[in-house]
Amino acid sequence: MNQKLNYRHQSREHLQSAKDELSANSDHRLKFAALELRMAMECLTYDRALGFKDEFPPSEYDTWQPRKMLAVLLEIDPLADQDSTLAVGVEAAPGVPAASMQSLGSEKVLNMRMLKSHYDALGSYLHVPSLKQSRDGPPLDFKKLRARCEAIATFVEQVLASPIFNITLGNFAGLVCMECGKPMRKRLPHGEKEVKAECFQCDASYTIIVEGDGKVFWKPHQQEVGCANPNCQEKIFIWNRELKVGREWECNGCHGRNILGLGVIYVEDAKQDGRSSSAPGGASA
Ligand SMILES: [Zn+2]
Ligand SMILES: [Zn+2]
Repeated sequence: MNQKLNYRHQSREHLQSAKDELSANSDHRLKFAALELRMAMECLTYDRALGFKDEFPPSEYDTWQPRKMLAVLLEIDPLADQDSTLAVGVEAAPGVPAASMQSLGSEKVLNMRMLKSHYDALGSYLHVPSLKQSRDGPPLDFKKLRARCEAIATFVEQVLASPIFNITLGNFAGLVCMECGKPMRKRLPHGEKEVKAECFQCDASYTIIVEGDGKVFWKPHQQEVGCANPNCQEKIFIWNRELKVGREWECNGCHGRNILGLGVIYVEDAKQDGRSSSAPGGASA
């Protein structure tokens, strides 16, 4: 997502095409308006994601459905789909809200409610009705589709007309990853005492513990694992995300090879161990 993509501009073009199709006043051309409006909504969602590019997990880059993408953004910031107004003012004393605030404008964003109620519904007009729908379903209601398209076009137009956009304000904690050195930045939602953070470049993950007074502690998610050679005392730290069957490393002490694997633990008398089993001799991993 690092290339300069102007999704807002693209969205504007799709909106214009949709309006052209709607103004043709032909039921036959409504499906083209529906398609253009869906694309306009996709562009707006991608544009919103670009506003969170430092926090958006690269593993989600393939996501194209706006609803799934917005769900990821809402996980990052619960306010990601809320309209907002930005205002500035000079505090008379530190911490005391300014008596007069100057508004810089408001932003209207494509929210989850809008996506849920319209995006999929438009999609149903973009396919030929199935055999079952043709037999049992009501015929296509073009009047309803036109009203829906017009409502979406108005909404998208308002979003695109926002004088300010992609405002993401928040409290952030920063750390240079202990494993790979990549700078990490994580939003700290108001009131949260512990926040999980994953490095996007390596397997490191952390819990950020908010200690108050602007101080945070990054606790690495690591396990100490000893060399499996009974004659060797060497230990290494493994990130929790690396704890997978087949992960291997060469021991720095004895230079042998260690491989993580699944194990079976045998208990001679299962009842004494507090567990009961009706399958004698059965082992389970
Ligand atoms: Zn890292
Ligand atoms: Zn060893």
